[in-house]
Amino acid sequence: MTDQAHVRLTSLEKHFGAFQALKDIQLSVEKGEFCALLGPSGCGKSTLLRLIAGLEEATSGRIEIAGRDVTMLEPSDRQIAMVFQSYALYPHMSVAENIAFSLEAAGVPKAKRLAKAAEAAALLQLDQLLDRKPAALSGGQRQRVAIGRALVRDPQVFLFDEPLSNLDALLRVQMRIELSNLHRQIGATMIYVTHDQVEAMTMADKIVVMSAGQVQQVGTPMELYDNPANRFVAGFIGNPAMSFLNVAALPPALRPAGAQEVGIRPEHVQLTAPDAPLHGSVRLVERLGNQTLIHVETPAGPVCAQAPGHATARLGETVGLALEPGRAFLFDATGHRV
Ligand code: ATP
Repeated sequence: MTDQAHVRLTSLEKHFGAFQALKDIQLSVEKGEFCALLGPSGCGKSTLLRLIAGLEEATSGRIEIAGRDVTMLEPSDRQIAMVFQSYALYPHMSVAENIAFSLEAAGVPKAKRLAKAAEAAALLQLDQLLDRKPAALSGGQRQRVAIGRALVRDPQVFLFDEPLSNLDALLRVQMRIELSNLHRQIGATMIYVTHDQVEAMTMADKIVVMSAGQVQQVGTPMELYDNPANRFVAGFIGNPAMSFLNVAALPPALRPAGAQEVGIRPEHVQLTAPDAPLHGSVRLVERLGNQTLIHVETPAGPVCAQAPGHATARLGETVGLALEPGRAFLFDATGHRV
């Protein structure tokens, strides 16, 4: 094999009885890459991660890790380590013991176990806390211990299943930065499940957008933002979300040929004079401090415009909308780009 794929999924499918949770998944993750599996609840991203881990059996298809076919191997034989959202630490064990636990089960001598635990703790800034019990740790520190447990096993691939979703908003931001730093320091292959596009956008080298058991698009964060493959990806990536206008209800001069819908991001919509061809009434004003989101009901559907922080708009007021030239995305009736 000449290519460098570290994890390769070929025609992977998963059925739960009559329900098909994953359809024809093809994916390559390169060595050292941080790959996010992103999608709404129920799209199959956790199932996909569990198949890679060996916690679920594939209905058909192949899973390769570091060039080895692991499809039929037990989780313990796949050289992976998984970090879950509930970190399930042993309450009676210290931080050091919790981190070293899996090594003990694997028969690694005590001195080596403690040395590896200390090394992982230093990377995760837990070195001052090695003697503490989990009850005396913050949520973020507990999550770091759970990551430490995965680290000491020197896996080929780290698998994360929404590891930050139990943390409060501020801690999530800190842990995002720490995980990115950790990835850079150890250069390991990481596959990370999340429904949070900000996590995926900020941490991942490659994002796999999933919906209804299928991969919708694979790309770098900016590729997905600049060039979404279809309406689903266009609406899912970007916050606040893209607005979609019904072409048939647009003024004739604004109707693009061959498209059913026009997608436009809030940052590409400007408020203008109320007699503009596209106009509507203000139905919601959201103040975020650094920007104000103005939601306008137009005959072609609701449009969100991103305005400066101190912009004013009254509820019910008629405002015109100008779409920045060259920034609209066109979709046909099936949601594909035109
Ligand atoms: P979430 O973010 O809510 O965890 P997800 O994208 O990770 O969602 P999965 O947990 O992978 O979704 O589930 C995908 C689909 O498969 C869902 O419709 C779920 O109900 C179904 N599913 C998962 N596990 C099983 C199971 N053991 N038996 C039957 N159906 C299952």
